[in-house]
Amino acid sequence: MKFILSIDQGTTSSRAVLFNQQGEIIDVAQKEFKQHYPHNGWVEHDAEVIWQDTKACIKKVSKGREDKIKAIGITNQRETTVLWDKETGKPIHHAIVWQDRRTADYCKELVQAGHAEEVQKKTGLLIDSYFSATKIKWLLEHVEGAQDLMAKGRLAFGTIDSWLLWNLTDGGVHATDVTNASRTMLYDIQNGWWDKDLLDLFGIDISMMPAVHPNVHEYGFTDLLGASLPITGIAGDQQAATIGQACFEPGMVKSTYGTGCFVLFNTGPQCQYSGHKLLSTIAYEINDHKHYAIEGSIFNAGTAIQWLRDGLGIIKDAKETQELAESVENTDGVYFIPAFTGLGAPYWDSQARGTISGITRDTNKAHIVRATLEAQAYQTRDLLEAMQKDSGGEKIQALRVDGGMVKNDFVCQWLADILQIPVERPVVIETTALGAAYCAGLGVGLYKGLEDISSAWALDKRFEPNMEAQKANSLYQGWKEAVQQILK
Ligand code: ADP
Repeated sequence: MKFILSIDQGTTSSRAVLFNQQGEIIDVAQKEFKQHYPHNGWVEHDAEVIWQDTKACIKKVSKGREDKIKAIGITNQRETTVLWDKETGKPIHHAIVWQDRRTADYCKELVQAGHAEEVQKKTGLLIDSYFSATKIKWLLEHVEGAQDLMAKGRLAFGTIDSWLLWNLTDGGVHATDVTNASRTMLYDIQNGWWDKDLLDLFGIDISMMPAVHPNVHEYGFTDLLGASLPITGIAGDQQAATIGQACFEPGMVKSTYGTGCFVLFNTGPQCQYSGHKLLSTIAYEINDHKHYAIEGSIFNAGTAIQWLRDGLGIIKDAKETQELAESVENTDGVYFIPAFTGLGAPYWDSQARGTISGITRDTNKAHIVRATLEAQAYQTRDLLEAMQKDSGGEKIQALRVDGGMVKNDFVCQWLADILQIPVERPVVIETTALGAAYCAGLGVGLYKGLEDISSAWALDKRFEPNMEAQKANSLYQGWKEAVQQILK
């Protein structure tokens, strides 16, 4: 029996997941960690805690099975920025998390100064505080001694994957993968290098930047578990999910429904630029296959369910939502737009706020719950329509779904109905960790190529559209009208 250890370092917890060669989960160890909110709109993590927790999870899940583990893969929350001193190995400040908005005003200035086109062309991204570049600049300007360390070539930048890799290899390796690099707003995704002009724009010295490698690569070795173990796969969380879902053909799409919702559309070996405020990114680079994707994100998906539980108190557990939604025939005209923190793609309206529209004296909690679940499908259709236009109208054949919310059959069926395409739920919905495991397994020859992964992908249930197109269109039209009401 051969195992692969996947490190899944997320926004709220660090995990280590042990897979067998068939891609089945053997065991999981997980630790939640503290979020730091020093000011309104600021979010920080203690990188040292992240490393210690990750190490503890790796040890726990491997105990007694060390000799069976053949490789390690890493997947991580993207964009979150750590700077550390290469000599001491200590972070110079808390990590600035992807959600942190402290550089939002500076990003507006960059747009006003006319940098948007250059940034999109080189990096595929829309200028936003979400990405690493302006977070690095902030740290360089606000942490005492940072400039000095940079001038001496002692300062290292990394996303969380790099930080973990550095620690796993005892400071021996400073590297990242192409997908994490794609989210820094400093990496030229077509030419495959750190862009000199962008580094200059943000005052970043190239000596800080990690080496960039494909997703499958011999990154280094760790002796954390005794014998030397290779780290052979790294991918940012959403790209790892795309790999875990085996979306290897142009036109294949995966959508992850966790806290937020992230859709990636494989556009093949050519980078396609979005005319609809979606992002272009490297989907993966594995054994000579370098594919790009268009990505759309919805900030609030599972958070809406949590709000029903913690904010409104109309459910006790997320599991109840399916039965409640199915207890009524429809929402009776109610739409729920969970824009708690603004609307993401394709609207990008950070000032918009959520709403529940169409309520009458007859509206009850089942209607509200149903409207919350239905909203996931309408939000997804917003993205898929934009993606379809960006990809020259190529018809999306099916949607592969994963994440905590897709345990809910109603959510999957409503997606199929509103999107009018089949929705496929795999057996393993932990596709992020699985994707990193696949990369690591490819790196040590446990899988021969992408074909092996495509054939390992196993379907749990396929949901066929079961609604007239006309009805789906008219329900979606109602959603669009409700969204118009909240746009600022
Ligand atoms: P993340 O990885 O972003 O933390 P997960 O993929 O674990 O999130 O998904 C958790 C989310 O899924 C939570 O917001 C939870 O409310 C929601 N969820 C879990 N089970 C169900 C269910 N049966 N129906 C609807 N939503 C669910």
